[in-house]
Amino acid sequence: MIMEGVDVGVVRRGGDEGPELDALVVGAGFAGLYQLHLLRARGFSARLVEACEDVGGTWYRNRYPGARCDIESTAYSYSFSPELDQEWEWSERYAAQPEILRYLGHVADRFDLRPHITLNTRVERAVYDEDSHLWTVTTSAAWTVTTRFVVLATGCTSAVKDVDVPGIESFAGRTLHTARWPRDEPVLAGERVGVLGTGCSGVQVVPQVAARAAALTVFQRTPVYALPAHNRPLPADEIAATKADYPRYRRAQRASRGGTLFTPPTRSALSVGAGERTDAYEEGWRSGVLSGLLRTYTDLLTDEAANETVASFVRGKIRDSVTDPDTADALSPRTFPFGTKRPCLESGYYAAFNEPHVRLVDLRRTPLVEVTPRGVRTTEREHPLDTLVLATGFDALTGSQTAIDVRGRGGATLREKWSDGAANHLGLVASGFPNLFTVLGPLSPSVLSNAVTAAEQHVEWIADCLVHLRRHGFTEIDATPQAEREWCAHVAALAERTLYPSVDSWYTGANVAGKPRTFLAYTGGMVEYRARCDAAARDGYAGFALARAVAPHTDPVPGATSP
Ligand code: NAP
Repeated sequence: MIMEGVDVGVVRRGGDEGPELDALVVGAGFAGLYQLHLLRARGFSARLVEACEDVGGTWYRNRYPGARCDIESTAYSYSFSPELDQEWEWSERYAAQPEILRYLGHVADRFDLRPHITLNTRVERAVYDEDSHLWTVTTSAAWTVTTRFVVLATGCTSAVKDVDVPGIESFAGRTLHTARWPRDEPVLAGERVGVLGTGCSGVQVVPQVAARAAALTVFQRTPVYALPAHNRPLPADEIAATKADYPRYRRAQRASRGGTLFTPPTRSALSVGAGERTDAYEEGWRSGVLSGLLRTYTDLLTDEAANETVASFVRGKIRDSVTDPDTADALSPRTFPFGTKRPCLESGYYAAFNEPHVRLVDLRRTPLVEVTPRGVRTTEREHPLDTLVLATGFDALTGSQTAIDVRGRGGATLREKWSDGAANHLGLVASGFPNLFTVLGPLSPSVLSNAVTAAEQHVEWIADCLVHLRRHGFTEIDATPQAEREWCAHVAALAERTLYPSVDSWYTGANVAGKPRTFLAYTGGMVEYRARCDAAARDGYAGFALARAVAPHTDPVPGATSP
């Protein structure tokens, strides 16, 4: 029941036995906002619940200086609304966090979503009733709601990983996490600042901290491959040309392998001479595109020798960018193939290490012993700090779902189900957890593609699915155990053909202590994935079991029309 006096905007209809909502969407990022819009447009009673003070999801929380998208803004944006495409203007090739947040706020206003969003409220528990086919969802605001469907649009890199550094709580200075950056910009001027972690967040925040702090110490356990972003303002004529071409571009984007457009490679890196290869890599490097190097040859992610040609090219570029040879050497990745961890786009990262007040501490050479009240102690010495910035990453792809106490059939929890590795059918529904969908969750292309395009595909599939269920009077959809087994086997088999699974990364869950090590993303690409999802729907939701509740269910919303 809804708590007295709490206006969550939920309309009860259909009698006491019916749900208060058709669908509850969790998370107000790119995926959740579009899901809310689409479900409402199709006549469902839907509400979105968000833990933060405002919409934006990952772009609300990751407000550290330097945060910006690593796919061009004109592509890293919704494709579903031609009007939105024409009215919104991106100012930079890679928009910074404040601009992306403004865009998402604009979307919430433009599509009149705010009245249907409850902010400052965390979904804590969801319990499924097998007789009524309803979820009872409990929130941190002490109200509960019953809903037919739950859509977890909780993000793939949003659950912050526990920081497994001894003594971290003893630090007497200020501790900041890139993914929980305060709204009031912390003043770093005059301070001795440490940054722990050199993934994409660390690579983005380091030059910005370097520009503000009196002294910066970067603590690096594993160096990454970072490519130059060549970010720049977007001139008016380029914006006009993009807008004129948007209808074609968006169609092509939706039909593409990863939500960005490029000509796929046709040749092995080993089939060409070294000179030709270097020319291709130079072009990819100049492009300022995250996949600029990976798209040059077919086998960079499947063949170690082919990969080494591009990995050594990047190491050469690092040597050219960093003046001190020892620092350049320490910044050069050698322990994993290029691209098997997400590469980073950098703006001033390597150059920062040429500044006299910036130093790199290579934790492979001098391991971190503990955080002390004064700073960070390695096997070599203590590094005194005023502020320690943690850029230590996420419990990616599954952490934001298992953070909720989800109980499906027989009271089984999602945490238990995924304790040996994530399992579901088509990356959308986990067997035993009916009427619960994940957007951009595990075993879908999500993080290996443009996340906005991938989210739109999920959101639209889910909305179509709910329309189908409504039209045919079904009140339940669950993945069959067999379809789930086959999907997991298919995802694993595809991944095994690549170099990804051999590497410790958040793709494999290896960055989180105790997390099962399985490759968590679908490597077959969006074209194949979309075809499989569409085929399942066309075949009457093959691989899913559809059912009708014995108890009467609510009538369709008056005036609702099927699209
Ligand atoms: P990450 O890639 O997991 O990097 C975490 C870093 O912290 C790594 O360098 C890791 O070292 C280090 N670390 C973790 N625990 C440590 C410990 N106990 N001691 C020492 N070092 C430790 O996390 P992230 O940088 O936040 O990025 C995660 C993902 O978010 C990215 O891959 C990307 O998909 C997304 N992201 C995107 C953007 C963007 O450009 N739009 C920006 C930021 C993030 P090891 O590698 O040795 O574990």
